[in-house]
Amino acid sequence: MTSFTTETPRNPGTAAPPALAHHLIGGSWAGEPSVERRNPARLDQIAALSPAGTAADADTAVAAAVRAQPAWASLPAPARGAILIKAASLLEERAEGIATDLVREEGKTLAEASGEVRRATDVLRFFGSLGWAASGEVLPSSLPGTTVTTRREPLGVFALITPWNFPLAIPAWKAAPALVAGNAVVLKPAELTPLSATHLARALHDAGLPAGVFNVVHGKGRVVGEALARDGRVAGLSFTGSTAVGLHLNGILDARRARVQLEMGGKNAVLVLDDAAPQAAAAVVAAGAFGLTGQACTATSRVYVTPGVRGEFVDALVHQAAAYAPGDGLDGARMGAVVSEAQLRQDAAAVRGAVERGARLLTGTDDGEPSRGGLFFLPTVLADVDADDPVVTDEIFGPVVVVLEVPDYEAGLASVNASRYGLTAGICTDSLALATDFAERAQAGVVKVNRPTSGLDLNVPFGGIKDSSTNTFREQGRTAIEFYTWGKTVYLGV
Ligand code: ADP
Repeated sequence: MTSFTTETPRNPGTAAPPALAHHLIGGSWAGEPSVERRNPARLDQIAALSPAGTAADADTAVAAAVRAQPAWASLPAPARGAILIKAASLLEERAEGIATDLVREEGKTLAEASGEVRRATDVLRFFGSLGWAASGEVLPSSLPGTTVTTRREPLGVFALITPWNFPLAIPAWKAAPALVAGNAVVLKPAELTPLSATHLARALHDAGLPAGVFNVVHGKGRVVGEALARDGRVAGLSFTGSTAVGLHLNGILDARRARVQLEMGGKNAVLVLDDAAPQAAAAVVAAGAFGLTGQACTATSRVYVTPGVRGEFVDALVHQAAAYAPGDGLDGARMGAVVSEAQLRQDAAAVRGAVERGARLLTGTDDGEPSRGGLFFLPTVLADVDADDPVVTDEIFGPVVVVLEVPDYEAGLASVNASRYGLTAGICTDSLALATDFAERAQAGVVKVNRPTSGLDLNVPFGGIKDSSTNTFREQGRTAIEFYTWGKTVYLGV
C-alpha cells in the first residue's frame, strides 16, 4: 500500500507538509498525486496533492465494485455493520490529524472540523448498529397457512458524488447506509478536498472492508463524475452539490432509469416576529448565516422581520456579526476561510451587485481580493433590497445575509415560500400557534423554530423540496436505507 501521508519538501519552512491523497480502487491505493490544493487560509501552503482521475479509473473502480458486491451482500448484516463500527473507532483514534487536514484543505475552523470528524464517527456507528435492526415487516395474508414478509434488498453498486463543504461527513452519511445494506460504492469526492474522503477510505480499508467494496476515485466532476453517472453498471447515484450539476446528472440517471438522489442548493429564510427576543433571534440568524463561513446548503441567507422588532434585531445582528472574524481555522479563528478564489469573487460580486442596485451594507464587505495571505470574507449583512433582487433569490454560498421588512406573519410566510428552493426554513417567535402554523405551511424539507437553519442531528431525515432536492428519498437517519435498497414482498405458504 502506498503511504497515505508522506512528508515532502513542497512546503519548505512550514509546519504543514502537503498530505498525499490516492485513489482506492479494488483495495489498492493508486494514482500519482499531482493536483495541487492550496490551503485557502494560507495560500503559500500546499495542503494536498491528489491524482487526476480518468474515465478509465472510474471504469476500473466500478468493475472492482461489481466483482466485490455479491460476496459483501451475502455477509450477515451484523458483520457488515461491525466493519463500519471498527472504521468509526479508527476515525476517532485519528481524529486530530484528520481534523487538521480538513481545516487545511477546506478552510473551516478547527472546532467545525473536529465536529465533522465526530459526526462521521457517529454516522458510521449509527448505520453500523443498524446491521442488527429488523429491515422488514410480517403481514397477515388472506390465504390460509400463509405468511407475508417484506424485505429490503441491496441494488448493487452506487456512485456517490460529493461536495467540498462537508468533505468527510457527507461521504460518510452516504456510504454508511449504502454499505450496511449490502451495496458496493464508488465515491468521487470534490476536487478541492481530496484528503477527507481519503481518510474515510483509509479507515474503512484498515477496518477490514473487503477489497472493492468501497472505492474512491479523485478527479474532475466532468470526467470521473460524468463517467460514473453514465456507467450502466451503476445502479444509483447520490449527489450533493450545485443545482445546475444536480439537474444535469438527473437527466443522465433518469434516461437510463437508474435511481438518483440529489441534494442541491438552498436559499434558506428565517422569519423573525415581533414577539421574538431580538438578541436570541440575532444569535439564531448569525449562527445560521456565518457558521461554516456560510458555506452550507442549509445556511441562512434571507431574513424577514416584522416592524416592531426590526430595529433591535438588526442592531443585535450587526453587533453579533463582528464576533465572526475570519481567519485561519488552525489559529483559533471564529470563522474560517472561503474555500476558493472563485467562491470569494462570487461572494463579493453578489454583495457589490446588490449595493449597486441600492442595497444598504449594514456590515461586511464587497471586497473579493485575497487578504492576509488567505481567502477571507467578512460576515456581511445587507438591507433595503427588492424582494426579487438576485441577492434575495440566488444562492451565494458565503457569509452573506439579507434582511427585509415584512408587515406581518402572513406576508413573512409568503416571502419565505417565494423561492425556487425549499431546503430549510426557520421562525423566531414565542407564539406556539404561529410556530405550529409555520411548521405546517413552510415549504421546506426541514423547519426550525427558534433554532438555526443549519445543523441537523444524524438520526433525522434530511432533504428538501423544489429545486433543493429530488424530494424522493431522504438522507440520514434510518430513512436513508430506503434509497440504497429495493423492497420485496414474499409469500410463504407451508
Ligand atoms: P460546488 O459548487 O459545491 O463545487 P458542484 O456541483 O460543482 O458544486 O460540485 C459537486 C460535486 O459534483 C463535485 O464532486 C464535482 O466534482 C462534481 N461535478 C461537477 N460537475 C460534474 C459533472 N458534470 N458530472 C458529474 N459530477 C460533477
